[in-house]
Amino acid sequence: MSANHYDVIIIGSGAGGGTLALKLAPSGKRILILERGGHLPREKQNWDTTEVFVNNRYVSKDTWYDNDQKPFQPGSHYFVGGATKMYGAALFRLREKDFTAHRTADGITPDWPISYAELEPYYTQAERLYNVHGQRGDDPTDPPASAPYQFPPVSHEPRIQELTDNLKRAGYHPAFAPTGILLNEADAPNSKCIRCDTCDGFPCLVHAKADAEVIAVRPALQYPNVTLLTNAQVQKLETNASGNEITKVIVERDGQREEFSGDIVVVSCGAANSARLLLMSANDKHPRGLANGSDMVGRNYMFHNAIALVALSRRENTTVFQKTLSVNDFYFGAPDYEFPMGNIQMIGKSKGPMFQADAPKFAPGFTLDQMARHAVDFWLTGEDLPLPQNRVTLNSQNEIQLHYEFTNLEPINRLRKKLQSMLEHLDLHPHLIPNNLYLGKHIPVAGVGHQSGTCRFGNDPKSSVLDVNCKAHEVGNLYVVDTSFFPSIGAVNPSLTAIANALRVGDHLLGRLK
Ligand SMILES: Cc1cc2nc3c(=O)[nH]c(=O)nc-3n(C[C@H](O)[C@H](O)[C@H](O)COP(=O)(O)OP(=O)(O)OC[C@H]3O[C@@H](n4cnc5c(N)ncnc54)[C@H](O)[C@@H]3O)c2cc1C
Ligand code: SF4
Repeated sequence: MSANHYDVIIIGSGAGGGTLALKLAPSGKRILILERGGHLPREKQNWDTTEVFVNNRYVSKDTWYDNDQKPFQPGSHYFVGGATKMYGAALFRLREKDFTAHRTADGITPDWPISYAELEPYYTQAERLYNVHGQRGDDPTDPPASAPYQFPPVSHEPRIQELTDNLKRAGYHPAFAPTGILLNEADAPNSKCIRCDTCDGFPCLVHAKADAEVIAVRPALQYPNVTLLTNAQVQKLETNASGNEITKVIVERDGQREEFSGDIVVVSCGAANSARLLLMSANDKHPRGLANGSDMVGRNYMFHNAIALVALSRRENTTVFQKTLSVNDFYFGAPDYEFPMGNIQMIGKSKGPMFQADAPKFAPGFTLDQMARHAVDFWLTGEDLPLPQNRVTLNSQNEIQLHYEFTNLEPINRLRKKLQSMLEHLDLHPHLIPNNLYLGKHIPVAGVGHQSGTCRFGNDPKSSVLDVNCKAHEVGNLYVVDTSFFPSIGAVNPSLTAIANALRVGDHLLGRLK
């Protein structure tokens, strides 16, 4: 067998791919991780707001194209650990109902081919692996769980505790946000996490965020049978003559072409790039793109209806680590609105430079830093629907064209009004200011952080790309384990579901590799 042959090749080392590598590592099987990026450099700029949010130091140089063929720079991050290097580590489970078809304002969401109960044990494993801190039962929409969180919730700082108390008094159910950081509040001197104000949207300089590099890829590399190649961008997957097995993985590494083969090939490049790779791998047997007989590869792209909002408080908000509170009272609707509205959570504490684009218009007379000091920062997430016409296609240069029409905007706008009316009574300025920079850029589609859905899994090969084990219906040794598999996106952050699913697929693969 050639030295370039592996039992398993995993393409992409983020939430899905990185987690799967760790799950498979103890099997002793030869595993190759191919990662397009390098290790995110550890440098002081990791925690520099202007470098990270204004100069986009860690954002890829990719150009994608929108509905009107206008170029934009997507907020994608190509590093070992993928987008989790920058994520806010809010690690929520989808709600039980998210797995079954239900009505939303703009249509019915599809059923998942697995139930919440089938994924539940893997959610528990995922929470343990990613050090999730939380408290069961304080959120009435929490789905049933087979075990408590291993770590206590990250405590609220006084301003957020006050907000929590006030919300409770007003009859709402604020809950601790489940968070994956390596924080030990009971033993602060020995805690890896120092509870700083540059977490959400920043890389962690001290490697204390539970990202896929720290939690999964580095530990996987402790096993002698696991190899990581960085700066190794997969260009194409080739198949045998009948098209039912991948025979070659073509890679460009540091400008050189290399070839690898694997008994099993797992694509986990992030939803848009996984679709891109399959589309670029078209051949005679797969003329529309690899595993794309259904014509579903690239379709049903979702990325949430998200709004970052700032409420200005008369008093200064001295909170350091703000992302500790979540409100799901309107997740499934409200007495005055029958459709799901979504989730409210805090985001990282804003800082002056983040307001460069918006502040003068919304808060004349305030300096940017003044605004940031008085800001209480919220993140609203609503569900967008999987539409076949919302899709990734490629232009003649194989660059991503992202066609996206917004859906379900009424619920998120209502959620925004709900938040506004909640806050009016809480010493917060009633005007909520959008913080567009947090979303990535001014073109909304550039905020690709929550991208998902481009290779949905399902039972019917005519309407899905992957089967229930996330194996391509049409190719015997091809799997996809990033957020592409989502048939619908729900209204909580996607990573924990991608991680749990990677663990589930890992169990299936361990059985197959025996
Ligand atoms: C600023 C920000 C904040 C976020 N906050 C949260 C949060 O609080 N909670 C949450 O749940 N989610 C959050 N997310 C989203 C979360 O990071 C993603 O949902 C998650 O990382 C997706 O995992 P994935 O495996 O699908 O893709 P990724 O983690 O993006 O991994 C894909 C990997 O594939 C590599 N790759 C791409 N193409 C190729 C190729 N051709 N060859 C080789 N390698 C390739 C990429 O470099 C990357 O490393 C946030 C995202 C951002 C950007
Ligand atoms: S809060 Fe903790 S995990 Fe987050 S960046 Fe700071 S030290 Fe790292």
